[in-house]
Amino acid sequence: MAVLKILTIPNPILREQATVVTSFDSNLHQILDDMTDTMYAARGIGLAAPQVGILQRIAVIDTSENKSEKIEFINPEIIAASGSTKTEEGCLSIPKYREYVNRKEKVVVRAMDRLGKQFQIEADDLFAICIQHEMDHLNGVLFIDRLSALKRQLFKRWFDREYPGDE
Ligand code: ZN
Repeated sequence: MAVLKILTIPNPILREQATVVTSFDSNLHQILDDMTDTMYAARGIGLAAPQVGILQRIAVIDTSENKSEKIEFINPEIIAASGSTKTEEGCLSIPKYREYVNRKEKVVVRAMDRLGKQFQIEADDLFAICIQHEMDHLNGVLFIDRLSALKRQLFKRWFDREYPGDE
């Protein structure tokens, strides 16, 4: 078991674009196992690789009550989306801050598993929101980027108070 350090804002790695995974080897499996341990240790429902400083298109998600339904997403793509929903989100990389974000209500995602086998999954509710949140991380996007201009200003004020000295 290895719990990795979760990067928090304003770490610039969180703003980088992650690259496509091409080798489905033991190195990838180690990353996935460590990310899973890290997600559970932090009591998160999802974790994207850039959050632990790995700029690859990898995410793990488990939105189940008893933490028994983890799904690993490698090179995920949203191939269909519908509806809209507004739900309060938080992020392990932005500790203590929560705000409502607009998302698609349902998504269909195509991704690969740890062996490089492609799968497709339909998600709604919290699961769909979490997938969209984690996939944003792979593109250097954080949920605060999706807030209104006013809410973003309020966030900046909150951040300056909470983390004085950080940009
Ligand atoms: Zn996040």
